[in-house]
Amino acid sequence: MERVILIKYGELTTKKGNRNFFVKTLANNIKYKLQDYSVTISSDLSRMYISFNEKDLNKILEQLNLVFGIHSYHVAYSCPSDLQSICDLLTETVEKEHFETFKVVVKRSDKTFPKKSNELAPIFGGVILKNKKNIKVDVHHPEVVVTVEILKDRTLLYYNAYQGLGGYPVGSQPKGLVMLSGGIDSPVATFLAMKRGIKIEAVYFESIPHTSLEAREKVITLVRKLSKYTNTIKLHIIPFTEIQEEIYKNVKDDYVITIMRRMMYRIMEKLAKKEHAYAIINGESVGQVASQTLHSMYVINEVTNMPVLRPVACLDKLEIIDIAKKIDTYETSILPYEDCCTVFVPKHPVINPTLDQCLKEEAKFEFSNLLEKAIYESKTITIKNQDVNEYQELL
Ligand code: ATP
Ligand code: MG
Repeated sequence: MERVILIKYGELTTKKGNRNFFVKTLANNIKYKLQDYSVTISSDLSRMYISFNEKDLNKILEQLNLVFGIHSYHVAYSCPSDLQSICDLLTETVEKEHFETFKVVVKRSDKTFPKKSNELAPIFGGVILKNKKNIKVDVHHPEVVVTVEILKDRTLLYYNAYQGLGGYPVGSQPKGLVMLSGGIDSPVATFLAMKRGIKIEAVYFESIPHTSLEAREKVITLVRKLSKYTNTIKLHIIPFTEIQEEIYKNVKDDYVITIMRRMMYRIMEKLAKKEHAYAIINGESVGQVASQTLHSMYVINEVTNMPVLRPVACLDKLEIIDIAKKIDTYETSILPYEDCCTVFVPKHPVINPTLDQCLKEEAKFEFSNLLEKAIYESKTITIKNQDVNEYQELL
């Protein structure tokens, strides 16, 4: 019996003018994910079909669960579009299914089919009741919706419906640069940005020797875990030691973090222009710490005109943790390695910084060459979802 995976795009279908591009991007992403399997992918503007080898089904579904842009999918049986073949297929398949209540839904997109949907539903229901014992119809709360889709070239029959990740296919939006620390929030922010279709590159600011190589390794592991949801992710590692030491030396204590973050944003903007990225993304959450009060965000954001996306801005920490656990970054994020933000934390960071004071603090030292130098000396690695040992030589 031939089976096929039927993929529905959901949100994509609202993007009228761009549908072709969206569908092509999704098809390419799926092809990438399924490159180890022998599959045939075909699509139209509302759905996609994947033919596969039965032995690979579970592995293929595992991969599909990692692809943004898939709203839902079904594993469907297929047969020729004639009444006898459909009834035979129902007879053959229904006994293998486990359910006690059901309803039949018939979708007849081939309008030349001799009978109408409302005539067909009772016929198919009858076949099911005849071939399976101890079951009954429940139109309101059925355990299983038996769906028969009559298309021009074939009929699809399915008893299941799986939810996909939703969102838009990665690459359907241009690139965005995400500030990725080793914390809990920024990997979640990265995941959510990818869900909107943004192609991600990650940026990690490190302050060796104040931060360790283990801290870098942790970020690489996080990128590797996040790359499951796309194909590869580039990670830019920015040497931040000199800038941080200059800030520490020159800036008044309570403004150290504010100025440090203004420097990070400046570097992000420069790098974004160099890498043709259109947004800065980070894991800031309103009110979480002194540098994330609205006052702080206002003066920090002031250094750039680029859109700064903060996908977790309005989530509670517990909500963020919940997502981090689901996407498998939580366990890595809670490893206790210091971040460059935590190394130089003053006792009482300002919570209502003013722009005026920031400018005064920044006038105390020459930083523009340092910013250029940090970018010039940055290292870039491309990370795939494979064993972290492959990146050992970079550590
Ligand atoms: P936590 O989950 O503990 O809050 P965090 O990574 O969110 O960790 P914050 O100090 O809250 O850390 O920083 C806010 C945001 O700034 C981060 O989510 C991240 O996007 C960015 N950021 C902070 N430190 C770095 C860093 N060393 N490299 C890159 N981005 C950073
Ligand atoms: Mg945070």
